[in-house]
Amino acid sequence: MTRIANYCAICGGSLQSKRVSGRMRPFCASCDMPIYFDPKVAVVVFIEVDDRVLLIQRAVDPGKGKWALPAGFVDHDEAPEAAARRETLEETHLQVRIDKLLAVFPKRDHGLADIIIAYSAKVLDGEALAGDDAAAVGFFARDNLPPLVFYPSITLTRLWSQGELEL
Ligand SMILES: [Zn+2]
Repeated sequence: MTRIANYCAICGGSLQSKRVSGRMRPFCASCDMPIYFDPKVAVVVFIEVDDRVLLIQRAVDPGKGKWALPAGFVDHDEAPEAAARRETLEETHLQVRIDKLLAVFPKRDHGLADIIIAYSAKVLDGEALAGDDAAAVGFFARDNLPPLVFYPSITLTRLWSQGELEL
């Protein structure tokens, strides 16, 4: 088992490794409790305006300088649609309405999330302006896409450019 924690977050005791529910898991003997580690969930948002897709240029690694769909992590107590609206607002200053679930992606590359939920959205209000971990924002036509990063952004943008993404 990959060691992902040494101490119990509740009592501070040292964790052991114990077979629970079919696999070895961190286990706190003091609390008599297995410690479950959950997948990190992110959302990604596909916004098309006048036959162009909204992309952000990443200001930080991974993927610094390359372009991707607006995206970010879902907070522990947050609905994924709410995270999608919040992250889009933070990165692009655009208020959006989430329209449709497009896909759920597993981790396939050096992205930081384990599960990525993709939505399509429509712009309600605002002018596109880069914020948070975006260095720039832009709308791109199918035949003029910039260098992209991250499997979900690459996959969705390719499907869209081939006319195979129903938004
Ligand atoms: Zn404990």
